[in-house]
Amino acid sequence: MTSSILLISLLLAIIEKSHPLILTSGQRIPSRQSIHQHASQNARLGPKSFFDLPAIEKFATDNDLKEHHLKGLYRVLMNADRSTLERTVLEEQLHALSFPKKQISSLLSTFSLTCSIQRIEKSKGGAKFVVQLPNGKLIESVLIRHERHNGDVRYTTCVSSQIGCAKKCSFCATGTMGLVGQLSSAEILEQIYLLQQYVKEEKLPGQVGNVVFMGMGEPLDNYDAVHEALRGITHQCLFGLKAKKVTVSTVGASAQKIRALADEAPQVCLALSLHSAIQSSREVLIPSAISIHIDDLGDALDYHACKSGGRGAMLEYLLIDGINDSNEEARALTEFCLKREGSVYVNLIPYNPTLAGDDFGFRTPLDERINAFHDNLKASGVKALVRWSTQNGRDANGACGQLVSSTA
Ligand code: SF4
Repeated sequence: MTSSILLISLLLAIIEKSHPLILTSGQRIPSRQSIHQHASQNARLGPKSFFDLPAIEKFATDNDLKEHHLKGLYRVLMNADRSTLERTVLEEQLHALSFPKKQISSLLSTFSLTCSIQRIEKSKGGAKFVVQLPNGKLIESVLIRHERHNGDVRYTTCVSSQIGCAKKCSFCATGTMGLVGQLSSAEILEQIYLLQQYVKEEKLPGQVGNVVFMGMGEPLDNYDAVHEALRGITHQCLFGLKAKKVTVSTVGASAQKIRALADEAPQVCLALSLHSAIQSSREVLIPSAISIHIDDLGDALDYHACKSGGRGAMLEYLLIDGINDSNEEARALTEFCLKREGSVYVNLIPYNPTLAGDDFGFRTPLDERINAFHDNLKASGVKALVRWSTQNGRDANGACGQLVSSTA
């Protein structure tokens, strides 16, 4: 009898260990078991991040903390400023939340913030942040300010998902770095946290209302970490954004990953960097496009539209003088969009000069040419807008395609 009780207890302990507490209530993007395996494989030396959710959840399980403890922890962190992030202040606040004293000490010895802002370059449209990772590498994040007609201010945080990028798109500064490394989900979440802290500390009006994965890297090449970060961004205990306020931007090298995102996070917005609807031109601008035909990409978009309830994707189209701004390109783009029966929306982005693009002799088209291309699309019934605002960060090299870190 005693031995069967022991056996049952042992089995229960094993089951408990292999299924850590998951911060479930308030989550809009469910966690995946594979993430827990991925996170442990990527364990790093030094303190772990408060935003490493699988590690925090495992710590909670191992130390008999409950979900309300985790919720309290994130309430403290999300309301903290630099002064209240001091260890003694955190200790007091966690104590007030009835955290057992021993667990507080262990928690604060195991976890901390692991990224820091090294440099801020302000521009009229926001600011670019050089962020140092725990391994010493540098990445970049951008805060973009939007002012509505009624005077309300909101910020979009543009986050990096990789250090550098393997895709080597010809117009992109980040592509010149090659892939230096992958970011963990915690490093992605800490970028948003640091920028949110900046807004708070500078006493800027408004708050962060959107997150876009348009910084350094191809998010779908770091799919597991990005998916886990989506859980934190949308979780009510953390950043609490609605999934539709988050955009994952891809150059679309993998139809399979687009389908996976549509299956696992259908309400998250998808932006596809198309840049040309003609296969041969696209391969010049995006060398990785050689691995996927434009028709297969279209099929993946249709799948996404179906899964997202018809919301469809944004098509990003960087307009480069004499390269992809011809009438033939406008016709191909029109045909591509009309096949999607109104489920796509085109963002026309005037090319932002980069050293990478300069090597190819890329130039920004004249405003008249941009307007003519736009008119061409509209005349055929394609929903399109010129994103003049993407030029706002130009003076700080924080505009689309301009992010690069020479010290990564
Ligand atoms: S545009 Fe995006 S996918 Fe292409 S090289 Fe730059 S960061 Fe990578």
